[in-house]
Amino acid sequence: PPHRCSVIIVGAGISGLTAAKVLSENGVDDVVILEAADKIGGRIRKEEFGGVTVELGAGWIAGVGGKQTNPVWELALQSSLRTCFSDYSNARYNIYDQSGKIFPSGIAADSYKKAVDSAIQKLRSQEANHHEDASILAETTTPKTPIELAIDFILHDFEMAEVEPISTYVDFGEREFLVADERGYEHLLYKMAENFLFTSEGKIMDSRLKLNTVVREVQHSRNGVLVTTEDGSFYEANYVILSASIGVLQSDLISFTPPLPRWKMEAIRNLDVMVYTKIFLKFPYKFWPCEPEKEFFIYAHERRGYYTFWQHMENAYPDSNMLVVTLTNGESKRVEAQSDQDTLREAMEVLRNMFGPDIPDATDILVPRWWNNRFQRGSYSNYPIYANHQLVHDIKEPVGRIFFTGEHTSEKFSGYVHGGYLSGIDTTNALLEEMRRDDGRKNESPTFL
Ligand code: FAD
Repeated sequence: PPHRCSVIIVGAGISGLTAAKVLSENGVDDVVILEAADKIGGRIRKEEFGGVTVELGAGWIAGVGGKQTNPVWELALQSSLRTCFSDYSNARYNIYDQSGKIFPSGIAADSYKKAVDSAIQKLRSQEANHHEDASILAETTTPKTPIELAIDFILHDFEMAEVEPISTYVDFGEREFLVADERGYEHLLYKMAENFLFTSEGKIMDSRLKLNTVVREVQHSRNGVLVTTEDGSFYEANYVILSASIGVLQSDLISFTPPLPRWKMEAIRNLDVMVYTKIFLKFPYKFWPCEPEKEFFIYAHERRGYYTFWQHMENAYPDSNMLVVTLTNGESKRVEAQSDQDTLREAMEVLRNMFGPDIPDATDILVPRWWNNRFQRGSYSNYPIYANHQLVHDIKEPVGRIFFTGEHTSEKFSGYVHGGYLSGIDTTNALLEEMRRDDGRKNESPTFL
């Protein structure tokens, strides 16, 4: 017989867990959380590597020190998460060319600033002309030299391709903190879960959380929802909150009966999925500069995004002898498809171009595969530069008894942990309102008829 409850939550990432928390705060404890992976957290995920904890997904708390407090920063403080201040604006002074020379800092900084200014100007003039196609931007900004390509990559792929002003910075402040805690970024989620799930010694022991449970079908009608999982189980409820990523919604992992309406399918299709890959490399000793302001450095290659953005981990974990290089989109997919040994060879060649032939080989490499993970299919959503309000509206609008949540449904903070958190609250408030209306309708129906 199907398991029956009031609300089914699909996904135990930050948005799904926040939804469960808000429901519980409002007296709705009759829920079940179905999570495909073997643990909670979703795109907040740590792994032990080279003797320390590394974050394969979200690594920073972005937006701190402003007028309002970032709710994720608050959670971090409450759970005494260890973080360190992080400033990658200094990366522009550390640009290496292919022969290992550092571009004179003046030139590097100047051309960086020029690129930023012209990008902003272009966006402004396009707004004025009501152009709707972001490809015009790509046409007019045509980086050619390795340094231009590197800077273009940093501006558009590494920092998010967002249109100024960036809500995260405006609302919450411009400071960013790197999570450097052995318990992982996810510690904050376990602390949050303690308030509404049974936990023991840091472990969730609550039968309402079902791990390794992959949702494959959502049947929905005016009367309720029936969810089928890969192991052949059924779950029946009045409502479902679906927090699967935009990449998963674009894939065929979950089918809907009846199918989602055309406006919803269109909206899902129109959202871009970004792939963002942090590759970790462990070395026997350090050969890179570790003075202040050298945490981040850039490699300028003739191929755009080719092992461009580097970070050492000494600030987070002294003497970890670890480097991180960030790839995105096409380069991420290329590297996901090849063996880690090939990736290691490529990365070593780039490092030898920067630091000379005598540096030691990395002893270990870790390559996350967000694109090929069928429960993720990418790293985060990206609204097209000229996304209209209709698109944002349609992405989060419920379909009957199916309520959508997750980072991609956050109008202001999509792509961020705080976007996931706030979307979990928004979606659940909308659901609670609908539940109250539903109760109202039942009470209103005149019994004498
Ligand atoms: P998720 O965390 O993806 O949760 C959805 C859950 O649904 C997952 O656990 C998934 O397993 C589950 N699921 C999917 N399909 C099914 C199914 N069919 N059945 C059951 N369960 C299913 N944000 C920042 O703020 N700062 C950063 O520095 C940062 N860096 C990032 C770096 C990387 C590499 C990545 C990938 C993301 C990064 N982000 C960052 C973004 C941030 O991690 C996400 O915005 C946020 O964690 C998303 O939360 P969510 O709840 O919306 O989705």
